[in-house]
Amino acid sequence: METLSVNKLKEMILYVADQIIESKPLLTELDSAIGDGDHGIGMEKGFLKVKEKISAMNPSENVYDVFTATGRALLMSMGGASGVMFGHFFAAGAKNAEPKTFLNPEDFIALMQKSLNTIKETGKANIGDKTMVDALEPAVQAMKMQGGTSFIDLFRSAESAAKEGAEKTKAYQAKYGRAIFLMERAIGHQDPGATSVWIIFRSLREFVEK
Ligand code: ADP
Ligand code: MG
Ligand code: MG
Repeated sequence: METLSVNKLKEMILYVADQIIESKPLLTELDSAIGDGDHGIGMEKGFLKVKEKISAMNPSENVYDVFTATGRALLMSMGGASGVMFGHFFAAGAKNAEPKTFLNPEDFIALMQKSLNTIKETGKANIGDKTMVDALEPAVQAMKMQGGTSFIDLFRSAESAAKEGAEKTKAYQAKYGRAIFLMERAIGHQDPGATSVWIIFRSLREFVEK
């Protein structure tokens, strides 16, 4: 699959939303260990709103409208720091992007690179700070290495890098968010936001493999 249409992208986002909603128990469990236990609840709330907005979206010829609508729905409904971050994940890269009727792998890499930049500028987190950046940055790097060949190869490489990055957060103390107060007691626990990033890329890969 070399390009994705507006309708395919809508289907893809709906699939991602269902997978995140299904992962609520895992995300809640992870955030209960090192945070306030609401990450699964917030993500569920956010992606229910995404499903509502994407299903009711006005017909569009621009693939970036799908990402903007997704990010806005998360930003509006999730609240908190992670609402802003996951809003940026989808919407920041679409901002001011030249309208297109089909998205290709190179477009997706550029979109994710822009989103990562905005997330880092906003939240100030870097690799090793035990946040979603620990999964997203390696995923973006892996996609750039992979290059714009096919969506399957692209999402496979992003998924495996995000998974590895999320697992590495177990070894880190937190520098942002509530886990900061745990100091070394946060060690041994995987970051919930990084886990969500992995689930998103895993879902993208599953969708194009279906
Ligand atoms: P809250 O911490 O407000 O309860 P959530 O539980 O939904 O929000 O999300 C927590 C996740 O947010 C963390 O696991 C982490 O990945 C992410 N996060 C927190 N602070 C930052 C930051 N400054 N930059 C990037 N991600 C962050
Ligand atoms: Mg929380
Ligand atoms: Mg909270």
